[in-house]
Amino acid sequence: METAKLNRLGFLDGIGNRLLALIGSTFLIGTVGIALFFAHDQERMILSNHERSLTLLTHTVGSGLQTIMQSGSAEIAESYIEDIKHIKDLGNIRILRTNGVQAFTDNVTVKQVNELMGVDQFPEREIISGLTYSVSELSTLKKVVASGLSKSVTSLDNGNATMTVFYPIPNEEECTICHGSDNKVRGVLEITTSMQQAQNDIQGMRIRIVLIQITVLVLILTIVFKKISQYVVAPIEDLSSSMVAMTEGHIRQEADVEGCCEFRMMAACFNEMSEELARTYSGLQNERDKLTTIILGAREGIVVTDRSEEIVLVNPAAERLLGKNTLELRKKGFRSIIDNPEHFAAILEDDLKSVPDIVVYKGRMLQIQATTIYSNEKTMVGSAALIRDVTQEKKLENELRYLSTTDALTKLFNRRHFDSVLEEEFKRAKRYKLVLGLLLFDVDHFKKFNDTYGHDQGDRVLQAIGKVMNGHFRDIDHPCRYGGEEFCAVLPSTGLEGVQNVAERLREKISDMRVDGLQVHISIGVSIFPNSGAKSPDELLKMADEALYQAKEQGRNRVCIAPSKV
Ligand code: GH3
Ligand code: MG
Ligand code: MG
Repeated sequence: METAKLNRLGFLDGIGNRLLALIGSTFLIGTVGIALFFAHDQERMILSNHERSLTLLTHTVGSGLQTIMQSGSAEIAESYIEDIKHIKDLGNIRILRTNGVQAFTDNVTVKQVNELMGVDQFPEREIISGLTYSVSELSTLKKVVASGLSKSVTSLDNGNATMTVFYPIPNEEECTICHGSDNKVRGVLEITTSMQQAQNDIQGMRIRIVLIQITVLVLILTIVFKKISQYVVAPIEDLSSSMVAMTEGHIRQEADVEGCCEFRMMAACFNEMSEELARTYSGLQNERDKLTTIILGAREGIVVTDRSEEIVLVNPAAERLLGKNTLELRKKGFRSIIDNPEHFAAILEDDLKSVPDIVVYKGRMLQIQATTIYSNEKTMVGSAALIRDVTQEKKLENELRYLSTTDALTKLFNRRHFDSVLEEEFKRAKRYKLVLGLLLFDVDHFKKFNDTYGHDQGDRVLQAIGKVMNGHFRDIDHPCRYGGEEFCAVLPSTGLEGVQNVAERLREKISDMRVDGLQVHISIGVSIFPNSGAKSPDELLKMADEALYQAKEQGRNRVCIAPSKV
């Protein structure tokens, strides 16, 4: 079953996990975006703080330097710079002239100052050489000199990032005394620091952000998982387990679902459906039980199959009538229940009911009704056979037919049968141009016989005549008691000569007959179709009657033939 398969696959877990994965990935994307933005912002702030600190330091050092220089103590300035170099984390510090040459490395300034002052106020120093600048640094220097504003530059040196601040030392009024007023900027203070600390700060900040992000993600996913489990997975699980139980046959289910109102509504609808289904199911079960009781208790045999003609139901009556148990019937197959698959198939497939549905089976007469059962959608859902034991019925029917067509005293056909037979045979003879003989006789002086020997004796004579008649005619002939002491016989396909012979022999037989030693004679009138020219059965009978009258008239105990008119 599909539901069971889904359950085995952990369908509900799947929903929870999928929702969690969806929410988790959405949240992760969102927080990563925010974190990136935040990290970038923090990074900028750290760098900017670093730059600001360095600029501030540079300005402070520059101001100090200028104060020292203005006091005319160039050597102190030099040692001041040297002292500053020992400050921790300070990479490099230099004082540059506006052309980029490092100050205090030659005697150019000393000479210029001495010349301007007109005295050798400053002694010449030892020259330090070998200092060069890259073009980019020179261009930065030129920009700083031209603008008079400090500038910071970051660069990568052997894999280490550094930041350099160029601070223009203004050529103030006091400075012009020694250096003249040609330039606005006297020189440039260059301080370089490693950015290692800033990078460490950035790295630390990134790690913190990642850790915070992971912690928040885990926390949020835990909460979301709990809430999804509580509000989504658990209600679905409850509902679906109720549904699975229902499909497994436990129709009455009560889903007790908590959570958001949609699920509660679903559960309420489901419970209502379940209740309705249970009611319908119980109703159907009652009906089925009734039907089963009827089927099991039915006197008719019932055999039902599924769509593949596998027998699914056999009631006890069917077992009894067919003389086989359910297992045997199943083994033999539906179409062989009466051991004649061809005849059974003909009954099953015969819509026009042209195949006899009564079969003689194991000494019984069984009426078989076999039908294919179709659903409302016209698809075959199975077949069914209804088996009725009609042995007794047929016997009674035959007895009834016998009684309704037989005369009780003589056991010959009665008048009613005679009338219908005469009409039928007359029509047949007319249609197929056949001959038809009719014989009518009457016991001679029977009134006197009764008067002499009694009515009972008369009855016994009539019975004896019936016996003679029953033995006298062919199977296709119809010997009947016409009424009272009159008898008749319809003789199909028998012409004048044949009827005359039969009549004569009959007359002789009756005359030769003795009943309790007593003798009777008969007079017979005969009419033949078409010889007599009779146009109807009544006319033919009338002609036989007239012939009988003739026989009486001519002295009785004789046969008279109706005159031929054709
Ligand atoms: P006929 O030679 O002219 O035929 O003389 P009949 O005496 O036979 O005259 P009719 O046919 O008129 O009389 C018939 C008699 O047959 C009258 C009746 O008592 C008798 N009969 C009719 N039916 C029965 C019957 O079922 N049993 C007995 N015992 N007698 C019957
Ligand atoms: Mg009579
Ligand atoms: Mg008579």
